[in-house]
Amino acid sequence: MPDLVYADGRFQADRAVVCDDGKVVQIVDGNQAANAIRLRNRALLPGLVNAHSHAFQRVIRGRTERRSQNTTDSFWTWREQMYTAANRLEPEDIYDASRMAFLEMALTGITAVGEFHYIHHARDGSIYSDPNLLSREVIRAARDVSIRIALLRVAYARAGFQTDPNPQQIRFIESSPDTYLKHLEQLMGVPELNDGMGWAGVAPHSVRAVPFDYLKHIVAFANERALPVHMHVAEQAAEMVACMEEYGRSPIALLDTEGLLSPRFTAVHAIRIAHEDFDTMARTGVLVCACPTTERNLGDGILPVYGYFKDGVPVALGTDSQIQIDLLEDARELEYHLRLYHKERNVLAPENDASSSALARRLFECATINGAKSIGFHGGGKLEPGAPADFFTVDLDDPSIAGASPDDLLANIVFSLSRTAVRDVVVAGKQIIENGKHPAQEAIIESFSHR
Ligand SMILES: [Zn+2]
Repeated sequence: MPDLVYADGRFQADRAVVCDDGKVVQIVDGNQAANAIRLRNRALLPGLVNAHSHAFQRVIRGRTERRSQNTTDSFWTWREQMYTAANRLEPEDIYDASRMAFLEMALTGITAVGEFHYIHHARDGSIYSDPNLLSREVIRAARDVSIRIALLRVAYARAGFQTDPNPQQIRFIESSPDTYLKHLEQLMGVPELNDGMGWAGVAPHSVRAVPFDYLKHIVAFANERALPVHMHVAEQAAEMVACMEEYGRSPIALLDTEGLLSPRFTAVHAIRIAHEDFDTMARTGVLVCACPTTERNLGDGILPVYGYFKDGVPVALGTDSQIQIDLLEDARELEYHLRLYHKERNVLAPENDASSSALARRLFECATINGAKSIGFHGGGKLEPGAPADFFTVDLDDPSIAGASPDDLLANIVFSLSRTAVRDVVVAGKQIIENGKHPAQEAIIESFSHR
């Protein structure tokens, strides 16, 4: 029993969370829980959900922050550097890098991840005898850290519209939808995606990388089985130009034409959105996944979150390139980038609620409930009877939040929490971080550092 529990959108004192069989059974008054474990100076919150990750990119952290030769650096020059790193990785390296990324996620209170996984083949482009070997290495890493994983298996067919094949992409390509779906169905049958800790989703990489007929085919498959669908949409200007050239409309308009947008569809990034696209997104119920720590690192641009909030389009959050793994930093940047752009404060605060944590509550929902909805994690991201028993605690005496009152604690956490304040993390009722440490932490760091 902690000092404070975050449930129903506020911190409540003298409450105990009763769990059984991996689920929250009840949240009861403290006097009804005589045998409860006492967690002094702790506040307990639902686990964070990271809706967009490329775990292997952890290997290039700090290695692309320098000028390339004779060029202006951009997303595209970064991408070539990232591909070079990706093409060196053996299955064991992918496991080590993923385990490192997932450990760091767990240490920050992330209990579930949507892994947008696109390296499928061996370094020479040949298919492994198990075509899902690398997906399974990533899943194994999540299981060994004990966080939940939605393996969003990526479909990648081509370099782009009227673009020559890029030899750096040979590990990603499955040029026919039938091959992609055959491999996806095999993956859906593995035991580690059938026990509640993992599940699969469909992830056409982008309109650039997947021709439209292929896209329709695999989204129909996903819709028949109620799987989440994730796609990079409208991240870069060049992608918008190519889509206009090939199809004569924006990516959102194109996807809407064939009814591919639905409440199971997440548009990742969605930075360059035309005015009329907002209406389409609200009408079809799609979600957006913002990745502000990555987007600022790559110089992608600023997400028009104000428009999404105004139109009721739910926004989830992702750590994407892993330049920084701290989902609350992503949450605060949604607001901060708009402050710098508009030279105003509290841009995303609700108009009819002046309470201390009203803005923080909206941003925290992005890191929890919206993320769970995005990756198909049913009931995740909140603490209530029947919800998965996934939560974390923060130390109320941590210098970054010390002195907060229950009313402004969430604003302290969302805007100022240092990662070191996260003390305990529980997934499916099992404690995976105790007193700020994972039991396999040293071994995970050791094998990652000495790859
Ligand atoms: Zn991405």
